[in-house]
Amino acid sequence: MRCVVVNGAKLKAETQCANCGNKISDGYVREIRTRRIYCDFRCYSAGVQTSLEAFAPRMPTLNAWTRSS
Ligand SMILES: [Zn+2]
Repeated sequence: MRCVVVNGAKLKAETQCANCGNKISDGYVREIRTRRIYCDFRCYSAGVQTSLEAFAPRMPTLNAWTRSS
């Protein structure tokens, strides 16, 4: 998983954490692949697991790879 940690950012719109729903203040974690924003790394980890489960049915190649390993 790839993400960027941003500190001191000024977000244009009011943004909420994709995992817990808290309002993002001056620092956040952004997942590059999905562009989701999380308030901290704990929410990022939890959110990534959730999004992987959501995306899994649409990614048959990834499922096959996971099963064979
Ligand atoms: Zn959060």
